[in-house]
Amino acid sequence: MEVEGKVALVTGAAQGIGKAIIRELLENGASVSLIDIAVEKGEEYKTLLDEEFGEGKAIFIVCDVTNQDQLTDAFQQTVDHFGKLNIVVNNAGINNEKNWEKTINVNLNGMIRGTYLALKHMRKDEGGEGGLIVNMSSLAAHTCTSGLFSRSHFIQRNLAPAPPPLIATQSGSRACTKLSQPNQQDRERERAAHVPGLMPAAHQPVYTATKSGIIGFTRAIAAASEVGQYGVRINTIAPGFVNTALLQSIEHEENMGEYYKYEANIKEMMNHYGILEPLIVAKGVIELAENDTLNGAVMKITVSAGIHYEEYGPQYQAKII
Ligand code: NAD
Repeated sequence: MEVEGKVALVTGAAQGIGKAIIRELLENGASVSLIDIAVEKGEEYKTLLDEEFGEGKAIFIVCDVTNQDQLTDAFQQTVDHFGKLNIVVNNAGINNEKNWEKTINVNLNGMIRGTYLALKHMRKDEGGEGGLIVNMSSLAAHTCTSGLFSRSHFIQRNLAPAPPPLIATQSGSRACTKLSQPNQQDRERERAAHVPGLMPAAHQPVYTATKSGIIGFTRAIAAASEVGQYGVRINTIAPGFVNTALLQSIEHEENMGEYYKYEANIKEMMNHYGILEPLIVAKGVIELAENDTLNGAVMKITVSAGIHYEEYGPQYQAKII
């Protein structure tokens, strides 16, 4: 699908990854609907986009993805304003282990709600024009298919000091914060060592549950779309650490609850694996739009390997028997 001329709705669009996705969609010629609860930030960003891309390319709708009526209205307002809807990115998410039910409600229920609303507007078998849905997961999702992570491996990964990096930026350096694109050799080394795959985060069990749920739901609904000929491709993106405000949530007991004590360990992991910039995730959305063969795909993004995909063997494909 060409992004040029399409209409996209992005949740959690006022800052961080969603903000970068909005800009990338606009730069590729789409019109965009920004959905967020953050009123001031959303309005400020919309004003900035009007100046940069011209009025009429972006609208901002205040909406809480946990509220079915608000989200239903936001989708309808988008279609009423632009006349169609082609791309939906369910990106809004939080990290709150203390108020874990809220985390499930925003991250998982909000994403399911957004997917069903998107399908309602886009399904070809129900009179729509088809389209693309992207659901934002995380490398914290534990859907490892090949049994790579034994319990001790998992504990070592999550709780012990990080091992030396596979890819050193400077000789003797333990830091691995390079943001440049890896070369082919880097990619091959990482793949050969299976690092980092999708893996559970010991300090974020509920966040991990929501992000795993997103992958499971998305792969299943993608299969339903194929069988039911919805004409809608549905994929997930699972990035590693990304340089946004969400990372600061680990510094607060009111977010982390009992896992607050792992703050130093998480920072060590960030140092070891490196931190992505939001732009690469936004580029991932464009790649998913442009590659019409992808449905049910899990795009992983890491500092060391860039954009790549979880490989599922034939035994892990969704089946209808
Ligand atoms: P962020 O905190 O910078 O941005 C999240 C946005 O979502 C904010 O604008 C916030 O106002 C909005 N939001 C929160 N609750 C909402 C609700 N109920 N309704 C509507 N909007 C709501 O975080 P981010 O890092 O940009 O995260 C975006 C997505 O990427 C999340 O799903 C997150 O889990 C995922 N992710 C982030 C990282 C990371 O390291 N930052 C890594 C992997 C995946």
